[in-house]
Amino acid sequence: MAKKDTFEELTKNAMKIYDRLKEKAGQVVDETKRIAQLAKLKNGLEKTEQLLGARCYILIKKNKITVTDTEIKEYAEDIDELKCKIEQLESGNIFCKKCNTANPSTAKFCASCGKEL
Ligand SMILES: [Zn+2]
Repeated sequence: MAKKDTFEELTKNAMKIYDRLKEKAGQVVDETKRIAQLAKLKNGLEKTEQLLGARCYILIKKNKITVTDTEIKEYAEDIDELKCKIEQLESGNIFCKKCNTANPSTAKFCASCGKEL
């Protein structure tokens, strides 16, 4: 009788532990889902902000919108500068440090101002 009681007690405790573990595991899964959903939403927000910025830049360049905010103007100028640098690197030309003229990679002197390249 005592042995049976002990066995039942053990079984009951084991079931309690199992239920608690199942609950904890469920909480971990929920938390993981929440974190994944949060990351997805934040990523979506970031991408949408980038698209808005890119669209804004296009409209500024086409003079479709008038921008008075200096920070936006500076960002647009930064984009111009970066695009210019990318273009320069992609073209393979040498740019004069004095006048910024594009010269063929074989040139020794600037075609515009004569400065040694
Ligand atoms: Zn030059």
